[in-house]
Amino acid sequence: ILPIVAVVGRPNVGKSTLVNRILGRRQAVVEDVAGVTRDRVAYDAEWTGRRFTVVDTGGWLPDAKERAKAIATQAEIATQTADVVLFVVDATIPPTSDDEAAVRMLRRSGRPVVLVANKVDNARIENETASLWSLGLGEPFPVSALHGRGSGDLLDKILESL
Ligand code: GDP
Ligand code: MG
Repeated sequence: ILPIVAVVGRPNVGKSTLVNRILGRRQAVVEDVAGVTRDRVAYDAEWTGRRFTVVDTGGWLPDAKERAKAIATQAEIATQTADVVLFVVDATIPPTSDDEAAVRMLRRSGRPVVLVANKVDNARIENETASLWSLGLGEPFPVSALHGRGSGDLLDKILESL
């Protein structure tokens, strides 16, 4: 059985784009509208000769109801069954209360968490990621899932922790 890397975060932060970047192909569904991934979707991945499973999840939100609740529950199951969780936030805006609620959920899971600051498309945005330290998850790891900036370093770090 392969180590499991779960990708979790609120809607539209770029989780599925990051999963595609990790896979090196477009397989997870990326949409400009929130809430496209409804489930946990597992893919086989490989980096520098090491294989692992990466799990894309739907957008996690606190106090979700009905369909959104089912999506959030799937993200929680993915978290609880992961060897490491990539918690993805949108680094172009300050952390939201939903991000903070997600951090509490992740802490309760007891799973190791890597804070991924996504949408860091350039050095200017990277300079603004310091506010993410306030989430209490340590150093934010800057990437641009869309353009690939920082993704190799992120994969090295993930594999180090497995
Ligand atoms: P998810 O809901 O968290 O799975 O987010 P998606 O992967 O579907 O992406 C939501 C939107 O953010 C899409 O329009 C993506 O193209 C965009 N996006 C994802 N990653 C990046 C990034 O690194 N930079 C920028 N500028 N946009 C991104
Ligand atoms: Mg998605």
